[in-house]
Amino acid sequence: MLKFRSVAMVAGVALLGVACGSQEEMPQEQAPMSFEEFKASLTQENFPDGKYIFDHDIALEESELQSYYDNNVAPGVGAHSGSLAVYYVGGDIKWSSTAARNITYCVSSSSFGSRYNTVVTAMNSATAAWEATANVNFVHSSTYDSNCTASQTGVVFDVRQVSGQGYLARAFFPNSSRSARNVLIDSSSFGSISPYTLAGILRHELGHTIGFRHEHTRLSSTGCYEDAQWRALTSYDAKSVMHYPQCAGTNTGDLVLTSLDKSGARSLYP
Ligand SMILES: [Zn+2]
Repeated sequence: MLKFRSVAMVAGVALLGVACGSQEEMPQEQAPMSFEEFKASLTQENFPDGKYIFDHDIALEESELQSYYDNNVAPGVGAHSGSLAVYYVGGDIKWSSTAARNITYCVSSSSFGSRYNTVVTAMNSATAAWEATANVNFVHSSTYDSNCTASQTGVVFDVRQVSGQGYLARAFFPNSSRSARNVLIDSSSFGSISPYTLAGILRHELGHTIGFRHEHTRLSSTGCYEDAQWRALTSYDAKSVMHYPQCAGTNTGDLVLTSLDKSGARSLYP
């Protein structure tokens, strides 16, 4: 999710006392961008089969770039107006009620090494936060931890360590292919990331894995509008676990589920 540079901006925003937008408003017109310009604006992960990263922690596969561009960026595409917002492309992007009760994952013991137990504990904490409010169940299938890769078909998703990616962690959406269904934690997440904790970052990332979009994409006044592929589940929530603090968010401290996050999650997974 957040970059260190962005984290530094949080203090700047607080010192300047920039208020968050509280009124719903239409997204601003974006200057037309060619597909090549759009693709060049994304960073690509620097390992084999690396994905294109959008808004710091959203992974797009190369095959998805053109349709994303055609639907959201191309000249002439009209954005529609819309706390919690679910990814919506002609329908909610979410797990079926059966699949939501068995979201299995492995934690790569070889990539995390001595940090393995730290990650297992943080994942247990982060999954518990969503499980306590929505009818979802994450299952750590530790039998696959020794072979926890993007091609491990014994789990829904894999959790692995990467380094030098410019994000603290990134995730996926329920409609991602198996090879893109990874929660990747950058080694920078094990450094000094106060006021965040690894569990807090994972609470945010796991929100994406069950379909939630960035809350700050709902208002152009956040400066972080992404696209209109979402459906509101609650009123706008500047404190949402899915809101980047540096995008005019009002969350301070670690990333935690707000009461609106909880009611929105419950409404999507009753
Ligand atoms: Zn995110």
